[in-house]
Amino acid sequence: MFIFLNYWFPVQAILLASLKPLATFASGLDRNKKLLILIYHRVLEVPDFMRPGEVDRQAFTWQMQLLANCFTVLSLPEALARVQTNSLPPRAVCITFDDGYADNYTYALPILKHFGLTATFFIASGYLDGGRMWNDSVIEAIRLMPHAVLDLSTLGLGQFDIATPPQKTAAAQKIIKHIKHLDFQQRLVYSRCIEQQAPHIPDDLMLTTEQLKALSASGMEIGGHTVTHPILATLPDAAVVTEIQENKLFLENLLGKPCRFFAYPNGKMGQDFLPSQAELVKACGYQAALSTELGVANSASDLWRLPRFTPWDKTPARFMFRMAIAYAQG
Ligand SMILES: [Zn+2]
Repeated sequence: MFIFLNYWFPVQAILLASLKPLATFASGLDRNKKLLILIYHRVLEVPDFMRPGEVDRQAFTWQMQLLANCFTVLSLPEALARVQTNSLPPRAVCITFDDGYADNYTYALPILKHFGLTATFFIASGYLDGGRMWNDSVIEAIRLMPHAVLDLSTLGLGQFDIATPPQKTAAAQKIIKHIKHLDFQQRLVYSRCIEQQAPHIPDDLMLTTEQLKALSASGMEIGGHTVTHPILATLPDAAVVTEIQENKLFLENLLGKPCRFFAYPNGKMGQDFLPSQAELVKACGYQAALSTELGVANSASDLWRLPRFTPWDKTPARFMFRMAIAYAQG
């Protein structure tokens, strides 16, 4: 089932071989050893015009093959232990997934296993077993709308042309950007209003609890990502603690293992979570927390806002070059 792409053909192979020493040097031969934590959300079966930023199986396969051959992929617990003792190997990488999409089990897991790699999956537990995140409701509804214009004047958003695939993509992205930072209830009103204008939209986007148990049983690390994926910065402390604790307890009861690591929903400090909320995460019994701020981790990093990053490049050589640059800038 795996598609081995042509990057082992001579030109690409030479390019990758020449970039490896650069990545080795940039990742820290000196006292400042560095860890790149990659963030993914979905691994699609095939490219999807409504989700241009997501990888598909084919791209994920060459990316994992590249990591297996040219980098040292560590589990998150081992990597963070080695960050703190400054004993990371050269070209150290962790792989993480946010949210809990079903394709993490269906497509990502077999590819990870094929290359002998391990990853951490941060789960928003309120959407397991048939739930759907509000942004997916917007995307899937607009994909299926048969009409040429989406009229959201009653919501104060105006009208959107959705006659063609590029127009649908642009409309969904614009609407998501507009309502992303609204209050949770208000955002739900907006997404439900959009949802109601489409035929039945899929309810199998997220993991089932059985799939999640299988991910965990296969050796993958499972982390917390709150129950409903709210913007924590907009919530009072008590609600933040409830979101974090209920999610952690649910995952621990389901999997029979401690849930050790947390990823902030959306993940930008100041915008999506507040510095003071890191203390709440710590008080709930986590060992470290990951943001979506760009960068690499090293022994000076704050364990409660570890940065992440994923190159978006379409070829292995460019992907690897951006990894090397990220180490150099970290
Ligand atoms: Zn998320």
